[in-house]
Amino acid sequence: MKQGIIIKGIGGFYYVKSDEDVYECRARGKFKNINVTPLVGDYVDISVLDDLKKIGVVEEVHPRKTELLRPSVSNVDQAIIVFSIKDPMPNMMLLDKMLVLAENSGLEIVICFNKGDLDSAYDYEAVSHDYRKAGYTTLKTCAITGEGVAALSSILKSRISVFSGPSGVGKSSLLNAIEAGFTLKTGAVSEKIKRGKHTTRHSELMELKQGGWVVDTPGFTSLSMLEIDPDELWELFPDIRERAEDCRFDNCLHLDEPGCAVKEAVFSKELSPQRYESYVYLYKEIVDQRRKFRKW
Ligand code: GDP
Ligand code: ZN
Repeated sequence: MKQGIIIKGIGGFYYVKSDEDVYECRARGKFKNINVTPLVGDYVDISVLDDLKKIGVVEEVHPRKTELLRPSVSNVDQAIIVFSIKDPMPNMMLLDKMLVLAENSGLEIVICFNKGDLDSAYDYEAVSHDYRKAGYTTLKTCAITGEGVAALSSILKSRISVFSGPSGVGKSSLLNAIEAGFTLKTGAVSEKIKRGKHTTRHSELMELKQGGWVVDTPGFTSLSMLEIDPDELWELFPDIRERAEDCRFDNCLHLDEPGCAVKEAVFSKELSPQRYESYVYLYKEIVDQRRKFRKW
């Protein structure tokens, strides 16, 4: 039995990287019975059927640490949320929304402000301070000068990461700067696949030369908040969660309640007003989304 990680799945085949080899595997029938579909990112045990052709069978799927839905990948450790300080200017509401979605998936989070070489009116230092206070790691990077690239690179090492952020902010440029390279040697892709029956695009894991895995499609692009209970939204804002302990009521939603420690912290500027604004905005958005959804 060998241990490995599923880096790609197509039409019932799972490509499992184990040591330096990639095995084309099918899954044991028992997975159907127990209603488990192996996912990209799963750590698995495989038995090798043919060591020359690198063919095997997935015998066991190890318990998952996390499970993302879109893209459907398990065991992602962290989300790298990338915005640029200019071209395009950061949309803070969108940043907060991606943070909430990443928090809801139980990921660790790194916020990366790219295009550090550009002259921008954007006050990176102040914004970064707010997010650090909320407990996030923030980084300033530049895919052109290489600023912050080594730091990002060490954050990615030995972990599974998903990149997220609007298009054009430099996600692929950063990965190129880190010298991401496909190491996937699928070799004998089965004939069935070549006939083009299975055209659905699934995410794959890309292995970094220095070690570590990156999901090859950005995460949190659907931006649907339907899975989030509006009354629990505040718990996904670590900076709000911290203040909420001192609210008068234990069911305080930090909207209009008296004795709300969160609102007090906003007035005294201990809590970023912009973060609070995002909370209120997103709360209303979820309530609206749910109302529309129920009408269907
Ligand atoms: P993605 O859509 O997030 O993957 O963004 P890309 O990596 O495709 O980059 C979008 C554009 O921004 C390209 O023209 C890049 O050359 C440019 N770009 C990426 N990183 C930087 C940077 O750090 N500084 C500057 N000035 N331009 C960058
Ligand atoms: Zn409150």
